[in-house]
Amino acid sequence: MPEQKRIAIIGGGPIGMEAALYGACAGLDVRLYERGRIAENVRQWGHIRFFTEWKRNRSPLASRLLTERGFELPDGETTSSGNELADYVLRLTTLEPLRGRIYPQTEVLRLTRERCLKSDFINDPRRADFPFRLLLGGAFQEKVHHADVVLDATGVYGTPNWLGNGGAPCIGEIANQKRIDYHLPDVLGRERARFANRHTLVVGSGHSAAGTLLAIADLFEEFPETRITWAVRREVPPHGYPYTLVPDDPNPNRDALHRRANELTERHNVDFHPRTVVDAIAHNGKNFRVTLSNFGTPDAIAQTQSATQDTSVADVAAESWTIECDNVVAHTGFGPDHTLWSEVQAHIHPATDGPYRLAEKLIHNNAHSGVGLSTGYAEKRPRPKADAEDEVNQSESEPQEVQDRWQIVVGDPQLLLHPEPNFYVLGIKSYGRDAGFLMQNGFRQVRDAYKLITGDEKFDLYEGALD
Ligand SMILES: Cc1cc2nc3c(=O)[nH]c(=O)nc-3n(C[C@H](O)[C@H](O)[C@H](O)COP(=O)(O)OP(=O)(O)OC[C@H]3O[C@@H](n4cnc5c(N)ncnc54)[C@H](O)[C@@H]3O)c2cc1C
Repeated sequence: MPEQKRIAIIGGGPIGMEAALYGACAGLDVRLYERGRIAENVRQWGHIRFFTEWKRNRSPLASRLLTERGFELPDGETTSSGNELADYVLRLTTLEPLRGRIYPQTEVLRLTRERCLKSDFINDPRRADFPFRLLLGGAFQEKVHHADVVLDATGVYGTPNWLGNGGAPCIGEIANQKRIDYHLPDVLGRERARFANRHTLVVGSGHSAAGTLLAIADLFEEFPETRITWAVRREVPPHGYPYTLVPDDPNPNRDALHRRANELTERHNVDFHPRTVVDAIAHNGKNFRVTLSNFGTPDAIAQTQSATQDTSVADVAAESWTIECDNVVAHTGFGPDHTLWSEVQAHIHPATDGPYRLAEKLIHNNAHSGVGLSTGYAEKRPRPKADAEDEVNQSESEPQEVQDRWQIVVGDPQLLLHPEPNFYVLGIKSYGRDAGFLMQNGFRQVRDAYKLITGDEKFDLYEGALD
């Protein structure tokens, strides 16, 4: 292996770009490959606003370098749209350390090792003797680059989950795939006419669903015929609303998003259906016919079971009906594309599809926080601004449970390891199907990955700012 490790970063989103900047500033030989434009995925939802503020969406390193270069950073307490964030990420490419290191419009089609198969040297560090082999494609003839270390930061936005019952396509979904919105439509902008005075089925109860539902609801006053059917697979929690508020949420924008989405269940032009799945979709050239089924309240299921002596919950108390609507918006989450991992010894969690070690930690943390998988989060409780004395008083006034909850910080380089040596998955892809990823977690992962790459556990270009 050459003395200077060649580091390949796949994906030019906010976390891949941060990884490239960090490595370049460390004096390492980095190259970044992005299949579209820089921050392509964020551009795709450029009309949506971030709920975390600027100060959380840029790293201490990038902020310092841009400021030194005379760039005035936006106010850290404000939020940005996806497009504004994408512009900011693009600006990083102008920084001196990244010159000549960024390859946009370059897709990594396959990742393997030179003359070495996935099944060779099982769990064996000697795999590192065979350099990674990246097959590159784009608007040029395919070619191969080699690397000693690979950081996969390719995100999940390109691989939305299916809409149908059980996470597989429902009847008719494959045939109608192009008509269904799997990404975030620009409801209040260029796609307004498609939603105004129209009936839309929205499926899901994550952040994306909340965003789309609220955008459609903004049309209610001006376009009173606008209607929503909102189907959610989950049981509504005991508090009666789809969103469980993050206790003591340090993020007021996220809190407001959840509260406002919960209020929608009471609006007359919103037909809300918990415990409901999609069984079939058809389209007659003008509108959709969608068959939904509701699998009953736990009480109804228990009653039916005791009346029929049936022990199978699956067939009990399901009630099906059909709606006609103009749009179907599938906000059923995203998951990692495993194509890049098919020839490396990646260790994948069976439930989340994310890297195993980190997934186990997230599952544990989510259970501990009480918020649950797929809204899992790993944020540090904000330190009170008050002086030390007040800090003590505040801590004393909070129950231990609340204090503990915010001690959860995922920041341990060992969580990034796979049986495949020198291979790391960073950014939102590292969370698999867990939708709780935040950019701050990504910056910590970048720091931790370079601790492993340099072999120096104290190596930290953020100088402790994210501890
Ligand atoms: C609507 C929405 C709102 C969000 N709001 C927030 C928020 O308020 N705060 C927060 O902290 N987080 C938020 N997130 C979560 C997360 O921080 C963002 O998704 C962020 O963009 C993740 O960055 P990333 O670099 O990991 O992945 P991405 O931004 O998805 O970047 C991945 C990049 O890899 C490229 N790529 C994919 N495959 C290949 C390949 N084979 N070869 C080369 N390039 C490839 C893609 O084109 C893309 O540019 C939000 C996410 C969404 C979807």
